Amino acid sequence: RVRAVTGGLPVDLVGDGVAMTAAEHWQGAAQGHDNALCMVVSTGVGGGLILGGKLHPGPTGNAGHIGHISVDLDGDSCPCGARGCVERIASGPNIARRALDGGWRPGADGDVSAAAVAAAARAGDKVAMASFERAAQALAAGIAATATLVEIDIAVIGGGVAKAGEVLFAPLRRSLRDYATLSFVQRLTVAPARMGTDAGLVGAAAAALTRDRDVSAL
Ligand SMILES: [Zn+2]
Repeated sequence: RVRAVTGGLPVDLVGDGVAMTAAEHWQGAAQGHDNALCMVVSTGVGGGLILGGKLHPGPTGNAGHIGHISVDLDGDSCPCGARGCVERIASGPNIARRALDGGWRPGADGDVSAAAVAAAARAGDKVAMASFERAAQALAAGIAATATLVEIDIAVIGGGVAKAGEVLFAPLRRSLRDYATLSFVQRLTVAPARMGTDAGLVGAAAAALTRDRDVSAL
C-alpha cells in the first residue's frame, strides 16, 4: 500500500526506534561508532542497534526493542503482557505517574507531563528527582544488559524525556556504573541524541540507503 503512494519505488518500513538509530549513526551522536544502541524515550521507549558498523533492524524491523526488556521481575504489569519493563518505569507518562503517586503536585498551570516533573527536579523537588532517578536506573539496567550481550560502546538517548538533560543523564551515568560491571562494558558511555525531531525522517532515508550500501561510507 505504501509502495502505491510512492509510485512503485522500493519501500522499506522500519520502526521509529530503528529509524532514529539510522539517523544518529549517519549524522548524529552515534556517528563513528560501529556498535551502538540508540533509544527514544518519550510516551514509550523504543530503540535500535548498530552492530558491526551496520544498522541491525532484525528480520521484522523490531530488533532493539529495549522498552520491553524486563528490569523488575515482579514489577508492574506492562501493556505488552510482561512485568517491570523498562518502558513501564522510564517512559514520560510513567515518570509523571510515579511522581504524582509520591506526592509531587503540578504548578498552577496543571502541567503533569514528564517535562514538568523535570522542571521540578531541577528546582530541587525530592520526589521529582526520585522519579527521574528510578527511570534512569531502569534505563541503565536495560542499556547494561544490551552492552553485555552485544558489546555496544555508546547508548544514545533521544525523545522528549531526554530533554530533561542532566536531570536524567547524571543519575543514568551513576546507575550505569552499578549495572555495567564487566570489564568490556565499563567504558560504555551515554550521550543525548543530536538529530532532534527530524530523526525519524532522516533515519527512514538512512535506513533505505543502508539497504543497498553502507551509508556510513557516504
Ligand atoms: Zn512491556
